[in-house]
Amino acid sequence: MWTRPKCGRTFVRKNQSHYCGGKPSTIHECISRKPEDARQELERMRDILRSALPDAEEGISWSMPTYWKGHNLIHFAAPKHHIGLYPGDADLVARIAAWCLEEDGWGGGAEPRGLDA
Ligand SMILES: [Zn+2]
Repeated sequence: MWTRPKCGRTFVRKNQSHYCGGKPSTIHECISRKPEDARQELERMRDILRSALPDAEEGISWSMPTYWKGHNLIHFAAPKHHIGLYPGDADLVARIAAWCLEEDGWGGGAEPRGLDA
């Protein structure tokens, strides 16, 4: 067992990622608690998902940033050394990646059209 000195919580795994104090209630709050380098990557991920899924609502579900449209479309999270994507629909990540590649204005300042999710 490992006890984190900062908050005194005990975990099976050493350096277990967790929320000290209360869980965040917004994606912004969730990202703002991460280290600087992770925040940049998470904001980029958020920008991509917001643009690809313009009709989806943002929120927190399963303690992760989530895009919702009638059901959970996709979650993302940043444990210590990677960003995890957890799509509800098995091919959604591939469709978002393809959308990013095909999107004419991606990175060029034009307004992205969004993806039907
Ligand atoms: Zn803690």
